[in-house]
Amino acid sequence: MPKRKRNKKIKKGRGRPRKKVIKERKHKVKYVPHLLRGVRDILPEDQSYFQYVLKQAEILAESYNFQRIDTPIIEERELFEKGIGQSTDIVEKQMFTFTDKGKTKVCLRPEGTAPIVRAYLEHGMFNLSQPIKVYYSGPMFRRERPQSGRYRQFYQFGLEVIGSDKPVIDAEIISFAYSLFDALKIDVLIKVNSIGCSECRKAYRRKLVSYLRSKRNKLCKDCQRRLKTNPLRILDCKNPDCQRIIKKAPQVVDWLCENCRQHFVRVLEYLDELKIPYSLDPYLVRGLDYYTRTVFEVWPTRKSLETNFALGGGGRYDNLIKMFSNRDIPACGVAFGIDRIVEELKAEKIKIPKKKAPQIFIAQIGEFARQKALRIFETLRREKFRVVENFSKDSLRTQLELADKLKAKYTLIIGQDEAHNETIIVRDMTSGSQETIDQEKIVKEMRKRLR
Ligand SMILES: [Zn+2]
Ligand SMILES: [Zn+2]
Repeated sequence: MPKRKRNKKIKKGRGRPRKKVIKERKHKVKYVPHLLRGVRDILPEDQSYFQYVLKQAEILAESYNFQRIDTPIIEERELFEKGIGQSTDIVEKQMFTFTDKGKTKVCLRPEGTAPIVRAYLEHGMFNLSQPIKVYYSGPMFRRERPQSGRYRQFYQFGLEVIGSDKPVIDAEIISFAYSLFDALKIDVLIKVNSIGCSECRKAYRRKLVSYLRSKRNKLCKDCQRRLKTNPLRILDCKNPDCQRIIKKAPQVVDWLCENCRQHFVRVLEYLDELKIPYSLDPYLVRGLDYYTRTVFEVWPTRKSLETNFALGGGGRYDNLIKMFSNRDIPACGVAFGIDRIVEELKAEKIKIPKKKAPQIFIAQIGEFARQKALRIFETLRREKFRVVENFSKDSLRTQLELADKLKAKYTLIIGQDEAHNETIIVRDMTSGSQETIDQEKIVKEMRKRLR
């Protein structure tokens, strides 16, 4: 509130006594709160983008017969250590873990799949008709090095299909991914690969390690370490030196067992049938240990910006449930980075549907009129009109300007006279014509005019 107005109010005897206001202004601030490093606020002006993306994804998920599931953002630490794999970047460096006051080792979820598998087992969902098709959205947490486009609290939307190993499921999930970006008007390319089952991967791993060992000295420090712990992850390395070596590395598709090869061929045939543009990426492995067979990533096709980030990715994880139970249940899923999709929409200047303009603005002059206007606002709101106000304003001109800015079709004006006569002025904001009517007829009148 501007200083001048505040003083005026105080003179009128409302608000706090002047002395106290001055005292309050001068008090010493002992603590100024700040955002933690690597996280951010999503302000109201950005919410329309986030809500739009989430809404589109939800509508689509429902149309593919997925059901919503929510799991807590906090889980046992072991769930992720065992599920994602000890030697992944996430578990090694990025998890927000702590021991709570009850001495439980907990973790803020770095991803959504392991918690859903936990819920699936814990609630005996394997007893239901299979497969289970669920979707989720919410914040995930990874303590990554702060850089543009990466946040330590980021938002994901994801799907999981648990209880089927059929290649048509992989294709359906990829098809969902493609349809989502089609709906959002973002051009994408799907990169796809198969990393085989635990059997054929063993043979490939041996081949890959023997190749990489011969180039060991030319690999980056991280990759030299990965050579022992998680050689497949080397294929993910962005280091240019490593990239050069990777380009000549043996490809996993050449080492697939017959079943895995057949499975992959079927997935690609379905994608051809659906006319989904994809490219085979023989070095795509995804960062997490739990993946088997089909893996894929969704990349924006625009070349204007350096596109370091996939907008989404996923794949099959036939071994994850086996790690937590005696059950051998295959599954497949995908997750999308909402923050990145929003950035992409903005960078590509893609228009998102705007909120509908208000039908009615209610303006008031004077305290008694404000009281009446408040009641009329409530009446119209309950009758489902799109009605807005700014009761904190005193000047009629300011209120009319605001109504204009908001593109309201009508402004209803109550001044001192109207308040006493129980009438109201209906102003057509396009023509500027005005008519005074009884307050009690307002709902009927606005219905007639806005029909
Ligand atoms: Zn295999
Ligand atoms: Zn490397």
